Amino acid sequence: MTVARTHAVALLGLTGSIVEVEADLSAQLPGFSIIGLPDAALGEARERVRAAAVNAGCPLPQRKLTVNLSPAALPKHGSGFDLAIAVACLAAAGEVSVESVARVVHLGELGLDGRLRPIDGILPAVLAAVRAGHRTVMVPRANADEAGLVPDVTIIGVVSLLDAAIHHGGRFDAREVDAVASVRTEHQGMAEASGDLADVAGNADAIDALLAAAAGGHHLSMIGPPGAGKTMLASRLPGILPDLDADAALEVSCLRSLSGQQVGSGLSFRPPFEAPHHTATAAAMVGGGSRLIRPGAAARASHGVLFLDEAPEFPAAVLDVLRQPLESGTISIHRANAVASFPARFQLVIAANPCPCGLDGTAECTCPPNTRRRYLARISGPLLDRIDLQLKVPRLSAAHLRGASDRPGMTSAEARAKVAEARATAAERLRGTPWRTNAQMPGPWLRGAGRLHPGGHATAALDRSLERGGITMRGYDRVLKTAWTLADLAGAARPDAGHIGNALFFRQGFGR
Ligand SMILES: [Zn+2]
Repeated sequence: MTVARTHAVALLGLTGSIVEVEADLSAQLPGFSIIGLPDAALGEARERVRAAAVNAGCPLPQRKLTVNLSPAALPKHGSGFDLAIAVACLAAAGEVSVESVARVVHLGELGLDGRLRPIDGILPAVLAAVRAGHRTVMVPRANADEAGLVPDVTIIGVVSLLDAAIHHGGRFDAREVDAVASVRTEHQGMAEASGDLADVAGNADAIDALLAAAAGGHHLSMIGPPGAGKTMLASRLPGILPDLDADAALEVSCLRSLSGQQVGSGLSFRPPFEAPHHTATAAAMVGGGSRLIRPGAAARASHGVLFLDEAPEFPAAVLDVLRQPLESGTISIHRANAVASFPARFQLVIAANPCPCGLDGTAECTCPPNTRRRYLARISGPLLDRIDLQLKVPRLSAAHLRGASDRPGMTSAEARAKVAEARATAAERLRGTPWRTNAQMPGPWLRGAGRLHPGGHATAALDRSLERGGITMRGYDRVLKTAWTLADLAGAARPDAGHIGNALFFRQGFGR
């Protein structure tokens, strides 16, 4: 009796766990059983591995093979275990080196022709292997570049099971075959998010709001007629956010990897931009899938911007699922035997027309005020409560645009430098707290232990408004947070009455 062991990785959300794959060859009647996989996948893996081995040119022995994947209680989805199962069997049969196989983590799906097929989630899987102390990982050739983004690991990219067997000392004749190519999609979003802030002409208030959103990490809403440039404004936000740090960049790439999107051969340090259409389902927003659980738009927007254009057109159920990530920065997806978690800490930008008729709510639109109110009320109070900056974006007149085109606008690079400076000021002030940006400060802390209430004359008008019921306590806190960001951008030590006045101006959009 020979037992051979190797390792693979099971992914649940972005979390990878090492799976031990053991193969046992005994002298009983020929058979092939796999234990430790969910029922449906079990039968498929068995047939795929057996056929792949024959067609690759390194068939499994006609004796009794038993493969065990442990720990058994760990949910194992997807087809990335094929390669580990096949090489463990070949090692148990004495066709390849037991020692060589034991030293390597194997990831990859087998096609019936014996070639390896690239799998989604290779980046988080390799990362998990390295974090568990492994130093060599074998992957399908088409996944090798992506796997190589993980530092301190040797990646072996192979074309077929035969290739893998020869690497592990199998005495087979090599065959020339083409690697299975990756069919991944280019990730959407970057194209729209690549324009420069300088292209935005004439709307100084909107540019100020965008700078404040970037500097303070504030969520932003924009109400304005079609053609006011809301989409253009939203798409410029990622470009004025600071570069991601190494951990965040790796996380963004891991989320892309798991979504089946192109990761490329280098990490991207720019914040992502996700703009799901209003026909998107709740599953498309949070993620899901029957086997490998994939992140949705909200998770893919992590460390970047989630933009909902025509937000009132989204079904209430889809908007509702954003409440968990807005509160906790994570998304949980529940399955029968497991919970997958994804990071989902994004900046939310929502845009809305003032009226469902699509006209600008003034000249042409003759809809009753009730229609317009009901339309905007589709954005629920709990969601709006988290949006510090609520902006009205007017349609700009031709004269306005002509005037603006004479003056060169602020470029994204200039804005990014201002934002970085303001963020550094806020981070310095918040040192020793769990918060890094003004938007993260809880109101009671800001007014209490944080001693960040500007006090005195600065808030006199705001205090009166609170007493009269013109503003809620939550609204009051949002104004204070925004005022701190405006002060940081202006290089002021504390917000003054002017900053608070401007902050109040930035909450007129929804009037709530
Ligand atoms: Zn209307």
